[in-house]
Amino acid sequence: MLPLGRGGGQVIKPEHLVKGNAMSGPMHGSTIAAAAYAIRVHCSISWPEGSRCLNCHQRFPCQVHRLAYETLVDDGWTDLQIEALDQRTGPWS
Ligand SMILES: [Zn+2]
Repeated sequence: MLPLGRGGGQVIKPEHLVKGNAMSGPMHGSTIAAAAYAIRVHCSISWPEGSRCLNCHQRFPCQVHRLAYETLVDDGWTDLQIEALDQRTGPWS
């Protein structure tokens, strides 16, 4: 697995996770790192009307989360490995 930094405020957009980038070549590592980071920042929070994304406030799972999840699954990650990316100690941190 790649070492994952804190991201330094990097903004992950759906176009960073376009399928095909993740397949091979020099983009591979950075695409996987971007997907892992996106999973961590586009995570679920509970609202009275249901789960929403902490980052973009869309209904959870949001588009970015779904794309990032698919990217990691395509790369061979398990659900447990992906869930482990959510290292929040509380619902807002
Ligand atoms: Zn989101």
